Amino acid sequence: MDLYEYQGKEIFKRFGIPVSEGRLATTPDEARQAAEELGAPVVVKAQVLTGGRGKAGGVKLAENAKDAEQKAREILGLDIRGHVVHKVWIETASEIAKEYYLSVTFDRGTKKPLFMLTTQGGVEIEQVAEENPEALARLHVDALEGFQPYQGRRLIYGAGIDDPAEQKQVLDIIGKLYRCFVQTDAMLCEINPLIVTPDGEVKALDSKFTVDDSALYRHPDVAGWRDTSAADPLEAFAREKGVTYVKLDGEVGILGNGAGLSMSTVDVVVVAGGRPANFCDLGGGGSAEGVVDALEVITRDEQVKSIFFNIFGGITRCDEVARGILEALARMDISVPIVVRLDGTNADEGRTILAEAAPPNLYVEPTMLDAAKRAVELAA
Ligand code: GDP
Ligand code: MN
Repeated sequence: MDLYEYQGKEIFKRFGIPVSEGRLATTPDEARQAAEELGAPVVVKAQVLTGGRGKAGGVKLAENAKDAEQKAREILGLDIRGHVVHKVWIETASEIAKEYYLSVTFDRGTKKPLFMLTTQGGVEIEQVAEENPEALARLHVDALEGFQPYQGRRLIYGAGIDDPAEQKQVLDIIGKLYRCFVQTDAMLCEINPLIVTPDGEVKALDSKFTVDDSALYRHPDVAGWRDTSAADPLEAFAREKGVTYVKLDGEVGILGNGAGLSMSTVDVVVVAGGRPANFCDLGGGGSAEGVVDALEVITRDEQVKSIFFNIFGGITRCDEVARGILEALARMDISVPIVVRLDGTNADEGRTILAEAAPPNLYVEPTMLDAAKRAVELAA
C-alpha cells in the first residue's frame, strides 16, 4: 500500500524524523484557513500517489493565506499523470540550501534492507544512478544484526557529506528511518529531497512510503488510511468481490486457478506472441459463483479481446469448473471469445460437459500452449 506524502510524514514524525508542520485541505477555503493557522509563507502540495508533482505544477509556494487559497484552487482538480488531485497538503515553507536524497528499501537480490544516500537530491534517483552512479552511496543492513551507527557513518562519508553538524543530523535520521522502516513493515521509505536549510537544519521535505500489504493487519491505523477512490476502479471492484486480480495492459484476459498456474499462464500467453490483459487467480475453488465473479471483473476491462480460462484440477474437479463456466455464461452476457483448457482431475468429464453444451464463442483446447495460441489469435 502506497501512502500519500502527508501520511508518510505523519509516520516520520512519530519516529522523530524532522518534518515541517502542516495541514490537509480539500477546498481552497480550507487551504486559506490552514495557511492562516500555520503562518505564511506556506507551500501548497498536491496529494497524489505519483511522483514528479513539482514538475507537473502540483507544488507551489504561497506568500500569504489569500495566495494559498488561490494556489489550492489551481492545484485541486489538476490531473497529474492520470491522478486527479482531491487533497492538498499545506505546510510551512522551508528555505532550501541543499537537497539530498535518502531512502531505505528492500533489496530482494540480497534479501536485505538497502539504504541509498546522495547529495544529488531533488531529481529522480534513477537519473542519478544513471548519470552519476559514483555519487550514490549504498549500504545493506543485516536484518538480524540491525542497523549500527558505524554503518550510517560509512554511508554519509560515501555520499560525501562533510559538514560535521550535517553528518550528526543525517546519522540520527538514518537510524530513525531504519526503525521506521522495520517497525512499519515498510517496503520503501524515501525522502527526496532531504533538505539542509540555510541555518544548517536537516529535514524531510517529501515522503514516499510503501507498506507491505501482507503486514497491514499489524498496522490497523495505516490500513484505515487506504483510499479506495484512488485505487484502480477495476482492482477495487475485484477486491470487493474477493477476486485476486492485477490489471496489466494487454488484450488477453487470463483466469487460472492458483497463483502459480495463473502466473505461468501469463508467461505462456507472452510465449504465444500475445499480451496479457490481467492476472486473475480463481483460487482453489471453481464454483459458479467464483467463476461469475472473476469473469465479471475481467470483462469490465474494455481492453480484453479474448479470455483464456486455464484450469488444472487437483482438489478442484474439472467437471465442477465446467458446470461453473456454463452457469456463468447462462447468467452473464459475454461478448468476447473464451478459450478453455482443462486438465487434471475429471478433465475428460469437464471437456465432455462443455462439448455437449457447445456454447457459442467457447473454444476448448487440449494443452496450455494450444489454448494460449488460440486466445492470442482470437484477440488479434
Ligand atoms: P515531487 O516533485 O512530487 O517529488 O514533490 P516534492 O515534495 O519533492 O517537491 C518538489 C520540489 O518543490 C522540491 O524538490 C523543492 O525544490 C520544492 N519545494 C517543496 N517544498 C518546498 C519548500 O518548503 N520550500 C521551497 N523553497 N521549495 C520547496
Ligand atoms: Mn520529491
